[in-house]
Amino acid sequence: MSMLHTSDLRQFRYCPRLFWLKQHQLKSSPIAFIQMIQSLGTALTQYLGVTEYFQGRRGMQADESLQAFASYEWCFGLRFEAHGLRVKIPGLHRDEKGIQIYFTTLSTNPKIEDSAYYAQLLWVLHENGIYPTQLYILYLNKDYVRDEIFSIKDCFKLSDQFLKPSGFIQGDCLKIVTRRIQDPREDILQIQTIQTLEDYPMTLDECPHKQKCEAFKICFPEVDLEAFEHEHLPASVRKALKNEDDEELNPLSRSDYAQMMARMNGGRFVDQNALKHWFKQFTNQTVTFVDFEWDTYGIPPFKGMRPFDVMPFQYSMHILGSEELKHQEFLGQGDCREEFIQSFLSVLPKDGPILAYNAFGAEVIRLRHLGQQFPQYAQELDEAISRFVDLAQVFVGGVVYDQRMRGSFSLKNLIHAIDPELSYESLAISHGIQAVLHYRNLSDEEDDGITREALLSYCHMDTFAMVKVFEWLKTLI
Ligand code: SF4
Repeated sequence: MSMLHTSDLRQFRYCPRLFWLKQHQLKSSPIAFIQMIQSLGTALTQYLGVTEYFQGRRGMQADESLQAFASYEWCFGLRFEAHGLRVKIPGLHRDEKGIQIYFTTLSTNPKIEDSAYYAQLLWVLHENGIYPTQLYILYLNKDYVRDEIFSIKDCFKLSDQFLKPSGFIQGDCLKIVTRRIQDPREDILQIQTIQTLEDYPMTLDECPHKQKCEAFKICFPEVDLEAFEHEHLPASVRKALKNEDDEELNPLSRSDYAQMMARMNGGRFVDQNALKHWFKQFTNQTVTFVDFEWDTYGIPPFKGMRPFDVMPFQYSMHILGSEELKHQEFLGQGDCREEFIQSFLSVLPKDGPILAYNAFGAEVIRLRHLGQQFPQYAQELDEAISRFVDLAQVFVGGVVYDQRMRGSFSLKNLIHAIDPELSYESLAISHGIQAVLHYRNLSDEEDDGITREALLSYCHMDTFAMVKVFEWLKTLI
């Protein structure tokens, strides 16, 4: 029987079938959304300034960990097991006052929401006869701004209290985590049984997450998604559609109203007045479409960056003027922030609206941060920011809704609905996270140009899709 990890318990509790699928068919390595220039385990050792310690390693036996803990005052990365559940403990320290346990979190506050996870680790330690007397959590300091030289003491903080992002103290970590300990043996037994089964089918009625689940098409290939459309409607819209007794209902949001009207009007809703008004801002103007790709860094790798800052490394720009459609692009490496700004400003048309999809949740924030990190460009970047228009607002704001969007407002879904020929699936890179992973592996010396080309094609597709959406919207007026 193979050892289980806390991630197995989490998956099993989300859906037992998804756990079975991940074990048998959907074997995939976890994707790190946050780029780390060093592991949290290494950061913990450095932050504590410990020089003499035992360092655990992958695959080590629990007996070895117990021996190490008996012999060393400080131990990092020890592996323990209990009843088939295997855990890694970031740090343990023993002195005359008792046993201190150290956890790490990829967050800017020690979150009480993680206490159930810590409780599983503590349960395993208790089963091994180790009872910590204090519990500390290492977390990233949101106020740290990196200088030329990285300071581990300033970048991280240590707390034995759970804190809200505001700094409000929620209580002692050890007391809260101890209260949350639950014996997981029953779940472990069920998981171990499921692991041995040839299949673990579930019916549509039993499915706890339906289309929200990544495995929906695998579990229910026979379900006609079109016929299943009703499931995409928000609860408020379903209620309004079913309201046979004319009871008083809460007012619908604009986007819910658009979805309801689309359903009642054969599949599409267009608020003609609002759409015409929206298009007025583009009359006789050059319209620029931009999209950025970026990576997020837990520990700031470059001067001027804070924990979890985002660094754009690529842009694509389509320019729709009186002449033919033009395209500009940039793909950098390493600390390419200034190069990115210079390139972006040099090709950006001097006037006219700039469209991005979810502009104010992404591109505008990226440019604002770049302006803070490179104040010499702040004015020009602010001027560019003032010209941004969010293309997504037309859909999110309920001006246009097409049932083929299936309740999703993502650009990929939208382009698939209005122009299925223009598919991301034919590209070597078809998702933002894939782009980030390829970018991380990109190296001038080793790349033969294929990865670079794939990244450029992906970003190009995003702005080209926006142009297509824009032109489609024109046909609806
Ligand atoms: S689609 Fe439903 S039954 Fe299938 S794995 Fe996902 S949540 Fe479980």
